[in-house]
Amino acid sequence: MQAILTVGSVAFDSIKTPSGEVARVVGGAATYFSVAAAFFADVRMVAVVGDDFDDGRMQVFGGRSIDLAGLQRVPGETFRWKGEYSVDLNSRETIYTHLNVFDQFRPVLPDAYRQTPFVFLANIHPALQLEVLRQVDAPRFVAADTMNFWIEGALDDLRAVLGRVDALVINDEEARQLSGEANLVKAARSIRAMGPKLLVIKRGESGVLMTRGQGFFAAPAMPLESVADPTGAGDTFAGGFMGHLAATGDFSDAGMRRAIIFGSVMASFNVEAFSLDRLRDLDYKEVEVRFREFKRLTHFEGLSS
Ligand code: AMP
Repeated sequence: MQAILTVGSVAFDSIKTPSGEVARVVGGAATYFSVAAAFFADVRMVAVVGDDFDDGRMQVFGGRSIDLAGLQRVPGETFRWKGEYSVDLNSRETIYTHLNVFDQFRPVLPDAYRQTPFVFLANIHPALQLEVLRQVDAPRFVAADTMNFWIEGALDDLRAVLGRVDALVINDEEARQLSGEANLVKAARSIRAMGPKLLVIKRGESGVLMTRGQGFFAAPAMPLESVADPTGAGDTFAGGFMGHLAATGDFSDAGMRRAIIFGSVMASFNVEAFSLDRLRDLDYKEVEVRFREFKRLTHFEGLSS
């Protein structure tokens, strides 16, 4: 098993969905990613929180294989984000994004982090993603995520990131925005020309589309009767995906497909409750059971002749 280094937001989220509303709950891309990935591999986190992120909040990381030596706690307020979802949960509006302590943040990797073979640049300013990349020695596999906020506000830095990563994991709306192409197959071709050889497009309740080389792999999302809060589904997906790759080192087509399904499994749990409430009490046995359910869900027989 190999370790994964991640940089990204650790946040206080306020969220409104048709199921309810919560304020100032623990969130952030690096938080969701780390908690999900730690089910599979050791995680090393690079991020910053303010002094309002107390020890009680910190417990979300406790008792897991998450190394917090690279998580700074500084005077000031933690990153804050507020989002509101549509009735069908397929779209959401950002009400505000307050970078707060991320505004002045300069990542400094502990020496022990520099040789980490797997790197996931979770959602945060691409300039910070680049600073982390500059401090790691020849990683084996680097993947990144981003968001409309950075596509609109930091495109030059984002393009520099894209030129240096093996994989990009983004949602369909962002893929269209980044490429200027409405068609996802064309969007994928255009984004891969920007750098990443492997592209994973997250499509919410429509599942995931992966493309590498000439091939595509499509996986559905688990059909769920109740979805409380989609926040962090993308990061949780990435945690399961990268976690499985780091745990197995298997980059074969079959291994990549399994990683996509582990990502989908983790995301399907995460959306069942607000914040990280479902991931907090999730057991790895439940992960395996749902992985098998996915196999049944997607299996079909070939033609007999
Ligand atoms: P997702 O639902 O996977 O897009 O991730 C939502 C998480 O990303 C929330 O917990 C937010 O705190 C965090 N987030 C929202 N906007 C940003 C941003 N511009 N940069 C970094 N993290 C963000």
